[in-house]
Amino acid sequence: MSAPPRFHSLVAHDGHDPRHHGAVHPPLYDSSLFTFASVAEMERADADPDSFIYSRGNNPTVRELETRLAAMEGGERARCFATGMGAISAAVLSSVHAGDHIVCVDQAYGPARELIGSYARRFGITADFADGTDLGAIAEAAHPETKLLYLESPTSLLFELQDLRACVEWARERGIRTIVDNTWASPCYQNPLAFGIDLVVHSLTKYAGGHSDSMGGVVIGREAAIRKIDRSELKLLGAVMQPHAAASIARGLRTLPLRMERHEASALAIASHLEELPFVTCVRYPGLPSHPQHDLARSQMSGFGSLLSFEAGDDRERFVRFVDALRFFRIGFSWGGYESLVSLQTASFGKARRSVPVVRLHVGLEEPQDLIADLDQAFRAAGFQSL
Ligand SMILES: *Cc1c(COP(=O)(O)O)cnc(C)c1O
Repeated sequence: MSAPPRFHSLVAHDGHDPRHHGAVHPPLYDSSLFTFASVAEMERADADPDSFIYSRGNNPTVRELETRLAAMEGGERARCFATGMGAISAAVLSSVHAGDHIVCVDQAYGPARELIGSYARRFGITADFADGTDLGAIAEAAHPETKLLYLESPTSLLFELQDLRACVEWARERGIRTIVDNTWASPCYQNPLAFGIDLVVHSLTKYAGGHSDSMGGVVIGREAAIRKIDRSELKLLGAVMQPHAAASIARGLRTLPLRMERHEASALAIASHLEELPFVTCVRYPGLPSHPQHDLARSQMSGFGSLLSFEAGDDRERFVRFVDALRFFRIGFSWGGYESLVSLQTASFGKARRSVPVVRLHVGLEEPQDLIADLDQAFRAAGFQSL
């Protein structure tokens, strides 16, 4: 094979290790430590940062997943963590020192915002939040001390995008590092490292695992940046991924591109249906031509995810009746699994900080016609204008 494998082949085809007796599914190394036949062998291992000594460092099962994820994102190296927040906190903390300043997208994932905006303060790191849709607002929030621009594109409630190429150009001129939370688009549909982003983070708990049965996170980037994380945040904070989680996420990953195709087709069908309902005032989904940043979305993503939100007036009680009446969409906060989910949230946005109830849907792998029928019956049951 001379040409590099295409995306689906890269994901579905395992590198076969002859030590595994031709096993198709690689064995799970759940050992916490690895032993040596001699002191000399141990000393050689100790001098090699890639050797297997103790699993709060390197583990073969976790390594396989890391190698796969790095290839899918087009990065030199990846490091897995116990959760998405484990990966995000390692990536952020490895990028700043006391006295530094961070600019963060104002709609970023809540716990990431809290880490950056308040927790980091105790280490002398300050932050400002900016409207990510406007590079001017990002520039305005920056100081001479700004060392990190933290992005999430699209964001996961209002689906606002940042122009990643423009952000990189702006940040590079100022020596500012860039991190993108790429969970929504998955490695299938957006590869920010190709635009010059320094570090990509994912919650593997969502699409990569895909079966709502494991948690994980990953940081992907250049060799030197990830090695630096290995030596400090990984080793010292210790939020490492368990080998069992790595095996279960690796299994989920094999069907990720197939699942994403289904999520995307169904989410687009549902977003289009919602848009036609007279009482729905706003549908937020970057895959819809009506999304205010649809052209930007098409220019930096090759497909769209499962998660969307909509508004239909500010009667929260009616929304509660609607959500309670749904049968296929279970009420829950996560997303990325096979099963459809709904959550009723409150969004505040715009200069006036307008607060409105927003319904967020994760469109799972069920038949889209069943999901649409479920939404319609719940709208009727809740007393939205008769269908
Ligand atoms: C869930 C989520 C995270 C955090 O991941 P955990 O695995 O729950 O720690 C980070 N970013 C986004 C966009 C998420 O949805």
